[in-house]
Amino acid sequence: TAAGARTETKATCCYCGVGCGVIVESDGEKVTGVRGDPDHPANFGRLCTKGSTLHLTANPVLQQQVRALHPELRLARNQQRERASWESTMDFLARRVEATIREHGPDSIGFYISGQLLTEDYYVFNKLAKGLVRTNNIDTNSRLCMSSAVAGYKQTLGADAPPACYEDIDEAQVIFIVGSNTAYAHPILYRRIEEARKKNPALKVIVADPRRTDTAREADLFLPILPGTDVALFNGMLHICLWEDLIDTAYIDAHTEGFVELKRTVRDYTPKFVADTCGITEEDLIRAARWFGQSKATLSLYCQGLNQSAAGTAKNAALINLHLATHQIGKPGAGPFSLTGQPNAMGGREVGGLANLLSAHRDMANPEHRAEVARLWGVDDVPSTPGKTAVEMFEAVRSGEIKIIWIACTNPAQSLPEQKMVREALKHAELVIVQEAYRTTATVDYADVLLPATTWSEKEGTVTNSERRITRFKPVLPKPGETRHDWEIVIDFARRLEQRMGKAGTLFPYENVEQIWNEHRESTRGRDLDITGLSYRILEQQGPQQWPYPEGAVTGKKRLYEDGIFPTASGRARFVDTVYKPVVEPVDARFPFRLTTGRLRDQWHGMSRSGTVAQLFSHASEPAVMLAQSDMDRRMIANGDLVHVTSRRGSQILPALASDEIRAGQAFIGMHWGEEYVSGRGSDGAGTYGVNALTVPAFCPSSKQPELKHAATKILKA
Ligand code: SF4
Repeated sequence: TAAGARTETKATCCYCGVGCGVIVESDGEKVTGVRGDPDHPANFGRLCTKGSTLHLTANPVLQQQVRALHPELRLARNQQRERASWESTMDFLARRVEATIREHGPDSIGFYISGQLLTEDYYVFNKLAKGLVRTNNIDTNSRLCMSSAVAGYKQTLGADAPPACYEDIDEAQVIFIVGSNTAYAHPILYRRIEEARKKNPALKVIVADPRRTDTAREADLFLPILPGTDVALFNGMLHICLWEDLIDTAYIDAHTEGFVELKRTVRDYTPKFVADTCGITEEDLIRAARWFGQSKATLSLYCQGLNQSAAGTAKNAALINLHLATHQIGKPGAGPFSLTGQPNAMGGREVGGLANLLSAHRDMANPEHRAEVARLWGVDDVPSTPGKTAVEMFEAVRSGEIKIIWIACTNPAQSLPEQKMVREALKHAELVIVQEAYRTTATVDYADVLLPATTWSEKEGTVTNSERRITRFKPVLPKPGETRHDWEIVIDFARRLEQRMGKAGTLFPYENVEQIWNEHRESTRGRDLDITGLSYRILEQQGPQQWPYPEGAVTGKKRLYEDGIFPTASGRARFVDTVYKPVVEPVDARFPFRLTTGRLRDQWHGMSRSGTVAQLFSHASEPAVMLAQSDMDRRMIANGDLVHVTSRRGSQILPALASDEIRAGQAFIGMHWGEEYVSGRGSDGAGTYGVNALTVPAFCPSSKQPELKHAATKILKA
């Protein structure tokens, strides 16, 4: 666009997984405004505080201060990084990576990427790792976000496909929100719930959460469960549904398997046991089960409270069990519906962007799936050795097993648990490559090579939101400085590496982003997420579409499993025999507080973008630890007093904030604040870096998602 010419371009908000459509106003050189896209089915013109201030994050003066605008390189750790050309930087990288593969094997390389990349970026990263480098050591920050939801869907329904859609909110009779402060984390979806309640006063909302959040305050029934007790809650609700004949035996017989074993297990989950375990009343538990089971359509919305747990997969599966047993699935207004945290965690999963997945929801462990992907890519085979997942990958970097780590569009030096280990790993790595739009993240401090990438309003490609809806968008602004698109960086490097490895140089033939998407599209043929009927042109002309959308279809599929057939070997959904296990680190006399973590309303992740907008600090201007008034009184702590919050892994000094959200014995800290906002010491005496210096490194055995939602802590006046 020529400077001065005013344009309006359709895009999506780059924050949460609601995937709201935005119209970006620009003058050809800068973004001048942003407003909700009235035609986008995710938001119909609405935006929350984060989305409506997006244009401020693209302010050119600010960009100069915070953006990485040219490649930087250092050849030795005791040097500063210096500005370098793309040519010399990419040559250096190809040489180092090839030499490391030759000397130590492909698994000495690791890629840690992001649910904020576009689908096309994700696709080429995955192909680079699994098809060219030949390692499955590629994982993403989606491991911290949705991997328990993925494992839960696959174990029960047979595929990683959220079965419901946003329209189901309008059709539900009961909405069960669990482990999600939807009003803060998915605000536009929450507004849809508020509207549905206005239109249908009979609609009941149940919220189960350890905190009385703004979402919980508005509920018809609030279950203030103790952290980590979700499986007991769901099994207890199923127990009651069984006793009160609220299950659908005909549906169970016709469309599921494994109910007998589960029935045996949930027999022990009596209302008294469950109420005591969860810290709620029997009366409320029974009411919740009755509302859930008796309703014509119950929709569950859930997020990190279920996923970020050492029992994350069991929590997801136990909730889906409840939906299957009561036939609250595959019909309007009903179903288990995971709310995606990041804007494109769904797209990443679609292209197989996790250490255990392959393109189009294929499994790495499945030899046929590996052969299919190898055929598609034109390579001999795809490696079968399981790749390292997020926490494992950084442990392998620290131990020296992984020599080179390539990090793109994410900030593990703030977001992973056990920060001390992560930072040791980054110091220990032979080479740290950081591909980033922002030069201000904590991880950039550890980079030997900084590759400057484009970001929101500059990129072209597709994202998929929580309801399987793909949106395509075009760039608004030219690339600033010497930045490149993420996919361009990957294919430039990949072509050089192919050459060094003596390969034909045919793996990355793309000249534009559409060609990458077309290859991804072909990989979905015949799979549950088949999009062979879609094209960039259709997405542009007809707007965002839901998958599946196979060849010959004229529309995507709103809701899955309405025919009662599931993508499992038998065609039946599977009940998983879920058993409640307590949190990994229970509280005790020395560490008596249950610390939970979560989002604040107006910030996003590690704040590299949202932290640049002044008005987004008006809701919460600084980090704090929320405590119950009774706990503060007992310790003679006044509002605003500084306290030490200490776990077995580190300690931080934060102001205390009395909150009626929190019950006695609990504490809450927002997840966003990094080291520039927080002071403290690690267990080794070194500085600590935000709330994840306190959290537990344990993870779910199935999904490998870390337990970021519970740690035992003590709190003492500073
Ligand atoms: Fe952006 Fe999510 Fe807010 Fe929509 S709800 S405007 S996607 S942050």
